[in-house]
Amino acid sequence: MPHDNRPRQKPLAMVVDDDLSLRISMGAALKKSGFNVIEAENGHLALDLFLSQRPDLILLDVMMPEMDGFETCTAIRGLTWGLHAQILMVTGLEDTISIEKAFEAGANDFVSKPINWTMLGHRARYMLRAGKAFEELNRNRSRLAKTQELAKLGNWQIDLATREFNCSSEACQLLGLNPATKVSFLDFLTPIPAHERNLVKTKIDQAVTRLKTFALSYPIQFSAPPKKHILNQGEIVFNEEGMPEFMLGVVQDISQLKQAEEEIRLLAFYDGLTGLANRMLFLDRLDQAIILAKRYRQVFALLFLDLDRFKRINDTLGHHTGDLLLKQVAKTLNQSIRGCDTVTTGNVKKADSMIARLGGDEFTILLSNIKYPGNAALLARRIIREITVAHTLGGHEISVTTSIGISLFPQDGEESEILLKNADAAMYHAKGNGRNNYQFYTEALNRKAMERFSIERDLKKALANNQLILYYQPQIHLSTRKIIGAEALIRWIHPEKGLVPPNDFIPVAEETGQIIEINQWVLKTACRQNRKWRESGLPLISMAVNLSGYKLADQNIVQTVTNALERSSMDPGSLEIEITENVLMQETDETIATLEGLKGLNLRIALDDFGTGYSSLSYLTAFPVDTIKIDRSFVPGCTADPKKLIIIKAIIAMGQSLGKTIVAEGIETMEQFELIRLHGCDQGQGYYFSPPVPEDRFAGLLAKGDL
Ligand code: C2E
Ligand code: MG
Ligand code: MG
Repeated sequence: MPHDNRPRQKPLAMVVDDDLSLRISMGAALKKSGFNVIEAENGHLALDLFLSQRPDLILLDVMMPEMDGFETCTAIRGLTWGLHAQILMVTGLEDTISIEKAFEAGANDFVSKPINWTMLGHRARYMLRAGKAFEELNRNRSRLAKTQELAKLGNWQIDLATREFNCSSEACQLLGLNPATKVSFLDFLTPIPAHERNLVKTKIDQAVTRLKTFALSYPIQFSAPPKKHILNQGEIVFNEEGMPEFMLGVVQDISQLKQAEEEIRLLAFYDGLTGLANRMLFLDRLDQAIILAKRYRQVFALLFLDLDRFKRINDTLGHHTGDLLLKQVAKTLNQSIRGCDTVTTGNVKKADSMIARLGGDEFTILLSNIKYPGNAALLARRIIREITVAHTLGGHEISVTTSIGISLFPQDGEESEILLKNADAAMYHAKGNGRNNYQFYTEALNRKAMERFSIERDLKKALANNQLILYYQPQIHLSTRKIIGAEALIRWIHPEKGLVPPNDFIPVAEETGQIIEINQWVLKTACRQNRKWRESGLPLISMAVNLSGYKLADQNIVQTVTNALERSSMDPGSLEIEITENVLMQETDETIATLEGLKGLNLRIALDDFGTGYSSLSYLTAFPVDTIKIDRSFVPGCTADPKKLIIIKAIIAMGQSLGKTIVAEGIETMEQFELIRLHGCDQGQGYYFSPPVPEDRFAGLLAKGDL
């Protein structure tokens, strides 16, 4: 009757012995103890019977012809189910070698002849029970391992008496450690990134010494990504007497949980369409910005943007196109903010910013730690310019504009809601003003903004309508008082405003990029003027031209200067280019190459307004500068203020020892002139000699020769 997997009423024993009488006696004893019994007279038959009947217990004689008990035992253990049977070896009396061999072959126990028949039955039943318990234990252990694997769990423990550390193979697998080697507590911590490892170690050490529970979550990283996130929890286990015995810990892979948390955070704080911060996150950051600005007495701006006529785009081209446009606007805003520091040549360099989409077509920008309201205006203008560029979306050419309202902390409100409300009100004001412009909440700032707008608008026509002219200010050799040069200074003759000084429009031209054209015009005009004076028989003097620092390296300036020199056939040695420290502060390879390119033309380079910026000595040695012009803010006070005089003296001494020519700007009185000459300054300029004058008047001064 082959085995059919159904649970048995009685356990089945197989007696294997070549001695018939022993088989009968053993069989009888086992039957008496509740077993069904089958018999085999040699090893081969025993194997066949085992396969067909799968007995629970096997009594196996050691000494049998052909195939002895050891071989039979080894063979049974090699069969399917062979590990589940209990095998009792029957050996000769105190045959210790056989006993050892029996265990090696896989027997569970042995009994030696002569056999005590009553004891045999008990022994057999006990073996069966022990075998079942052992099997159950094994089953539980592998179930636990499987469960831990599924739950991504592993455990570890520290013996409190010996501090010995042990960790399960599941824990090793989880942490990317080799379970085959002995893992120490320090090995257990190695997958944690170095900067967090010590902290985790200290926390666990503390929990062990203070007999406390703990829970820590931290990232781990194997040799290759991805990172995992681990939750490690530990608890003290006490023995029956209530004494602490060991710290039992569980490590769990919570990467999926972390990822889900991150996704929830993104959903809660970020706008799904553009990836920008949403209203909730923005308000939170705004509150933080207020706290920071209060603590450090800083000013910040809140820009409120609304696209003009966005609804029409949505209605006519569909929501999909509308969405695409919003995404592009978000991108443009990001770029405008990033480009901000380069455009302003340092003005908002330290400002921090954050962009959010409040909803619909409304965006907000937080511009922290700004120096002047003008910084916010500058960003608003930049955004307006860049958003106006045509967008191609889904095959449509779309032109959009935006209106921006600006509120400032603290002057327009000290609470987030008020700042937001006021920026919104300013934005409506901008819409009312014809859209495509920006407005401050504070009215006085708007006047400035309007003025700035009108300059930008009118400047576009200034060059074409010949409204720009050059004035010239004489540069004097201080010991002889002879005119040795002229500085060309630009003026704008505005049809309504009259003479506009350069400080009012050069920054605008820099921002809009018109400075490139202006620089070309100034160079051409100044070089031509120099030739005209020379041709009319006036003494040869040098000509100084101011070049704006804005993106000097991008202006192809070397070519522009070359052209101006060639067309006027002016001697390059008579041309001096004035730059300011801003240019040197950009210190890029392109800037150095540009300056060296200029030097290569054999002209001179002057550092203008020296003493107002960083005035770093390294600039003077690192760049090819020939002349230093002491800023005019130092000269007027030098007769009364000894500190100013000390600075002037220091610049003169230092500059001359480096072989530079020193020019003092803004000399207005005789005392100033005398004092500066006394301290060895080479040249000077200022109202004391002459203000900047038109070309014909300059020719008159030059004809006279000295001042
Ligand atoms: P800068 O190059 O330092 O020019 C000297 C400024 O000082 C001129 O102002 C001049 O009129 C003024 N000044 C001269 N003597 C005295 C004096 O005794 N006392 C006082 N208080 N001021 C005096 P301006 O013409 O208004 O020019 C201002 C700045 O505009 C110039 O400073 C220069 O940086 C810039 N600039 C002028 N022309 C040009 C130009 O053609 N291109 C560029 N990129 N910038 C220019
Ligand atoms: Mg100058
Ligand atoms: Mg100057």
